[in-house]
Amino acid sequence: MGQHKKGINTICTHVGELEDKEYKGAVSPLYMSTSYAFEDVDVKRYPRYFNTPNQVALSKKIAALEHAEAAMIFGSGMAAVSTALMAFLQAGDHIVLQPTLYGGTYNLVNEEFDKYGIGYSFADGLNVTDFEAKIQENTKVIYIETPSNPLLTITDLEAVATLAKKHGIVSMIDNTFASPVNQNPIDFGIDVIIHSATKYMGGHSDILAGAVASTEEYMERIFQLAKNFGGSLSDYTVWLLERSIKTMGIRVKAQNKNAIRLATYLHEHSDIHKVYYPGLPSHPDHALAKSQMKGFGGMMSFELEVGLDASRFQKALKLIKSSMSLAGVESTVLSPTQTSHALLSPEEREKQGIKDGLIRFSVGIEEPEDLIADIEQALKIVRSEAVLSTLN
Ligand SMILES: *Cc1c(COP(=O)(O)O)cnc(C)c1O
Repeated sequence: MGQHKKGINTICTHVGELEDKEYKGAVSPLYMSTSYAFEDVDVKRYPRYFNTPNQVALSKKIAALEHAEAAMIFGSGMAAVSTALMAFLQAGDHIVLQPTLYGGTYNLVNEEFDKYGIGYSFADGLNVTDFEAKIQENTKVIYIETPSNPLLTITDLEAVATLAKKHGIVSMIDNTFASPVNQNPIDFGIDVIIHSATKYMGGHSDILAGAVASTEEYMERIFQLAKNFGGSLSDYTVWLLERSIKTMGIRVKAQNKNAIRLATYLHEHSDIHKVYYPGLPSHPDHALAKSQMKGFGGMMSFELEVGLDASRFQKALKLIKSSMSLAGVESTVLSPTQTSHALLSPEEREKQGIKDGLIRFSVGIEEPEDLIADIEQALKIVRSEAVLSTLN
């Protein structure tokens, strides 16, 4: 009989927890020390070395969640992205990235890489041939994000991993939108997994953090750079993040369930022009999503029918708030054109298929009937305004 593998909610709740040996408390004690004795100990502990008791404990939990050998926690998702990338790239190297990326990652590459002498190419599409076409002799990293922001496109994990291995390249993924509950890219051969833990891991819109998971060997390489870059997270926030992750499994599963319900409702609604959600059979990559995801996640985008004002609609929502971030227990919407993708030129947005009226929807854990009622009342308002404007 093989070793029993723990299920997701057990990993979320227990793996890595610190034992309170002195008082037998139920939760991990919090060690806020920035200074630890160095005599008669074998580990030199210091928060910027990513090795305080709480950091080590949470890293174990995140590694287990991503089926990885090791993990590290960072001060933000972008600290995780930048440190992971720079650990594998130096002057003269080249990276291939997928065309639709989180805005901050796009800016990092676009605004910073030239001055470090790192070359970069964006694939023309998401097929493995699009990535292969951009690989050069000096390509060291291939970087993907699936599902992507804001159109929820799906990239083939196994195909990209196989391509990377064939060329001796490191494959990296930003797994934030899926969360470790819905997708474990290591199982498909991807090398380095990155998260903005600000999103589903934190889940309550009150923690800024990032995480990276990979093999011991690759994490050692990332650590060597990370200790110099200094992007570690405060132990208090590490402790809060551990607490948040305890409920990540049940939160994300509830969000998956609500999102399917809401996507179906929007898809069938006569006021909605289009819904982008990988869980809908009408999504062009539904079959691929199904083959590599355990759930389709809580993120979707949609467009209203022609003539209905998207920004008025967002303002008319009462329960669902317009908000910059995503993945909290509360449902939120935003306009990518005005926020996350505002820095892209209209042509670049057009090329990526991001329409001006697109609404990104982060589905929370509220009762789905209440979310639907809120959308109904907001649609009623924009419908009546549209009628009035045609009469005038
Ligand atoms: C938010 C986000 C990031 C950046 O994370 P921060 O915690 O804001 O630094 C990276 N990738 C994706 C997909 C995100 O949603």
